[in-house]
Amino acid sequence: MTTRPDRRPMVSLPMLEARRTELETCAYCPKLCRSACPVSNAEPRETLTPWGKMTTAYLAAQGDVPLEASFARPAWACTGCGACTNACDHRNDVASSLTSAREAFSSRDLAPEAAQRMVHDWEAHATATRSAVAKHISAGRSAIALLVGCTYSLRASDVARDAVAAVRQLVGQVEVIDMCCGKPLKMAGARARFDSHAAQFAARTRGFDRLVVADPGCAVTFATDYREAGVRLAPRVSLLVDEAAAQLGALVASDARTDVRYHEPCSLGRILGRGAEARAVLTTITGRPPAEVTVRGGCSGGGGLLPVTMPAVSQAIAVARVAEHDAAGGGELVTACASSLVSLRRAARGQFVVSDLATWIARALRR
Ligand code: SF4
Ligand code: SF4
Repeated sequence: MTTRPDRRPMVSLPMLEARRTELETCAYCPKLCRSACPVSNAEPRETLTPWGKMTTAYLAAQGDVPLEASFARPAWACTGCGACTNACDHRNDVASSLTSAREAFSSRDLAPEAAQRMVHDWEAHATATRSAVAKHISAGRSAIALLVGCTYSLRASDVARDAVAAVRQLVGQVEVIDMCCGKPLKMAGARARFDSHAAQFAARTRGFDRLVVADPGCAVTFATDYREAGVRLAPRVSLLVDEAAAQLGALVASDARTDVRYHEPCSLGRILGRGAEARAVLTTITGRPPAEVTVRGGCSGGGGLLPVTMPAVSQAIAVARVAEHDAAGGGELVTACASSLVSLRRAARGQFVVSDLATWIARALRR
């Protein structure tokens, strides 16, 4: 890292003072993580490297560049995959810093139009999620709640159904929560709306002992964004894959397959550290350790609201993962988070089956 010549107050975006260390660390860095970022790999522009995105936010915060949409936009060019942090000697938290930058730019009405539209349409999203989840709600009370997540519920109803069935087999009666965790609001930069939604979610789940979460993306939100908002969930949070890994003996190992390749979602593997659990489950069901997509944990392009704010780049990232899968021999591609599933299914264009670990677990429990 080079020396820092000056240190001036962040007069234009004072909210980013709290991220000064992270922003400065990147701004004065020789960009050692540049090849790790799926966004700048898909669209090779200097401003889209982790260094470029952080430096742009830093310069805007200090007033060195005008507060304009063109300087705000790079903050939304991040899937939150964490690959840069992994590659960084300083373990610099770029994704969370860029989320703070989104909030700072949003407070000046500089969020991209697609992100603003998502916030504007939030009530419609909440209503659609409630209605999609309603079919899984059954009568009866339970001390255990289940969150399926909006993306599975709205865009992969086959997996939502399998996740509900798998969790009921593993833990018994559950109450299905008909809410979204609120992550899209956070990714849009709508901090006040997100904080208020998180408080509502906490109130809705108060009284449960345990909250089982099907989508690791929601679990990341609870572990990071809820904490930052000062919202604590009363129930203990576990993942569907945790429940399955704790009961490997309940999974019937009769899906012996050699044409299965595992795509590890960044949320589940790199961020939540549950790669071993997912592989243990798949290994038990198929009878052998799964082959892997070439870039272990390679980003699918589905996170961070990228499919909404930069759809072409998001699609290019997913297409690159599918091409790696194809080059490695193809077969069925198994992933384990809703945004990866939707992105990879779209990119595969029916050329391969793209399934979710929830479906494999449900099948193994039915046998
Ligand atoms: S994340 Fe680390 S390696 Fe990448 S630009 Fe920032 S400080 Fe440098
Ligand atoms: S978190 Fe991922 S997408 Fe975001 S800047 Fe880092 S490597 Fe790029």
